[in-house]
Amino acid sequence: MAQPTEGRAPAYIDTTKASIARVYDYALGGKDNYEVDRETIERVRQVAPEVNMLAIDNRAFLIRAARFIATQTSITQYLDCGSGLPTAENTHQVVQRLQPEARVAYVDNDPTVIAHGQALLEDNEFTRFSAADIREPETVLADPTVQGFLDLDQPLALFQIGTIHHFDDAVDPQAIMARYIERLAPGSVVAIAHFFDPENADSELARRMEQVFVHSPMGSGRFRTHAEISGLFPGLELVDPGIVPCYRWWPDGPQLRTEDPVQRCIVGGVGIKR
Ligand code: SAM
Repeated sequence: MAQPTEGRAPAYIDTTKASIARVYDYALGGKDNYEVDRETIERVRQVAPEVNMLAIDNRAFLIRAARFIATQTSITQYLDCGSGLPTAENTHQVVQRLQPEARVAYVDNDPTVIAHGQALLEDNEFTRFSAADIREPETVLADPTVQGFLDLDQPLALFQIGTIHHFDDAVDPQAIMARYIERLAPGSVVAIAHFFDPENADSELARRMEQVFVHSPMGSGRFRTHAEISGLFPGLELVDPGIVPCYRWWPDGPQLRTEDPVQRCIVGGVGIKR
């Protein structure tokens, strides 16, 4: 059945091509998505009935990592790469509740996010949005919106949450992260959530989801191993408990539902640059 968004798409939005941000929105239960976006999740659902948990656990990790940084470090500036569409509890809302003057710069290159999300994300003087390709650290960091707003000589929190697994195979994600980290001041932290191949009995599920994602209208979604994901934090000291399934990273309380194997196929971690 068509959702309310259908039929009133603005001209600048191509509703024939899936968008990572809108696929994610659908998986989170949002309404800013089209048939072509929903198709990706519905295809993956054939091999992983609880596929939505990838998005739900990823988002919950973002919120907990943001709260952790806001309360356990003295960092007051955030560079959120791949903001996604505005949803409940965006990074700036989470951290500014704890640190009212914390500055948050969002970066995304999805036309729907740029057109529709920018105004909603930039809802106060301590929040900015920049349209850039996050696979290009030098461009992101040199962007006037970012440079004029964040002090790159001071520690900051860099988020790559649910983003790197969507990079195309032509780029080397470890090299990209090394270039970001090189530019960060000591004391900075990096939070990453990434699709995961557990290299155990759940690997088959991870491989199947990857196959469907990569051949879906969205066309991306790499499940990487622990060693590959560790390589995204070069030179950083990982905060306990290290790189673990997102729902096990400083959970708010006991697991209220039975764990699904899908939940073991997305991990998160936070690293500190000493
Ligand atoms: N970080 C948010 C979260 O975890 O809730 C959103 C995650 S969403 C799955 C991934 C976002 O990264 C999308 O909005 C997508 O447009 C953005 N993205 C992916 N590749 C990108 C690129 N090369 N440059 C800029 N943004 C990108």
